[in-house]
Amino acid sequence: MQVHNFSAGPAILPKSVMEAAAQACVNFQEMGLSLLEISHRSAAFKAVLEEAEALVRALLDVKEDYGVLFLQGGASSQFFMAAMNLLGTDETAAYVDTGTWSTKAIKEAKKFGGVDMVASSKEKSYTYIPKDYSIAEGTKYLHITSNNTVRGTQYASFPDVNIPIVSDASSDIFSRPIDISKFGLIYAGAQKNMGPAGVTLVIVKKDLLGRINRDIPTMLDYRTHIEKDSAFNTPPVFPLYVSMLNMRWVKAQGGVTAMAERNAAKAKLMYEAIDASPLFECPNAEEDRSVMNAVFVIKNKELEADFLAACQAAHCNGVKGHRSVGGFRASMYNAMGIESVEVLVEVMKTFTAKHA
Ligand code: PMP
Repeated sequence: MQVHNFSAGPAILPKSVMEAAAQACVNFQEMGLSLLEISHRSAAFKAVLEEAEALVRALLDVKEDYGVLFLQGGASSQFFMAAMNLLGTDETAAYVDTGTWSTKAIKEAKKFGGVDMVASSKEKSYTYIPKDYSIAEGTKYLHITSNNTVRGTQYASFPDVNIPIVSDASSDIFSRPIDISKFGLIYAGAQKNMGPAGVTLVIVKKDLLGRINRDIPTMLDYRTHIEKDSAFNTPPVFPLYVSMLNMRWVKAQGGVTAMAERNAAKAKLMYEAIDASPLFECPNAEEDRSVMNAVFVIKNKELEADFLAACQAAHCNGVKGHRSVGGFRASMYNAMGIESVEVLVEVMKTFTAKHA
């Protein structure tokens, strides 16, 4: 039985990656030992860390003026770590509020410096990405959430600003090519497009660090992890290994350019099905619709449970919307093949024929 996994995260990973990960837990590289029981300072694990970093650099074209770090604490820890490392007490950073995760990032940043919320789409239930705002002279950085996992909106292109962009890319990292030079910092919890929960990717421009007058705890200072190649303390060995395998897979598929093409084709199919049905609707502005997470609702709420049951019957898992929003959400990360979207679209068509 094939289950079509539309979960928003932790999310789908390629089956070959899961199998290789399972094998490494039993017997890693024919060592007769599990990946989980060898030293993180062994040559074998060091090679994993090095390959993981090299893959991030190759996939996203990250040059040496950026550090590539694998940390713990999830993207949620980056909400405060970003501000702690980049924003002085007397300085101000601009934040765009596009929903749940931006709101949390703003809350944490305020503990370290000034936050100027330059735009918010809250008044329209976060159904679009604000693009019309100005940023005051002297602002340290602009923080955005590149893909809003909960609401299903995404930056199709990034703001044109002359300060570094800090981006929470938790739910669209490796889904498309990006111009790294626009960013001072990119962070992403792994558990959507990168690997299992437990490791967080940070890509940070080195010359932005060490510029503020704050005594940062050693573990929370990006410089610590740059200096020690993400092995200052014990790194999350399993999530890191699986992420490395997954990045190998992305590379073998043709890299992020190929991913972007696959993802665009899936999203097109999905949104066309939503728009074509008189039963369903996508609340989000067309130009800002997420390629990763298609959020949609059913106009007649009484049919909601029936539709979820129909999805379940077709082995489409995880279609229920986020608890804060309701409705439905079909997450279509890199590892999902278009056949899975075809199955869900078929369920929608059959359901529409029955109930419209
Ligand atoms: N940012 C975004 C865009 C997310 O989707 C999530 C998790 N769904 C988070 C941050 C929080 O990540 P974590 O659970 O790794 O702290």
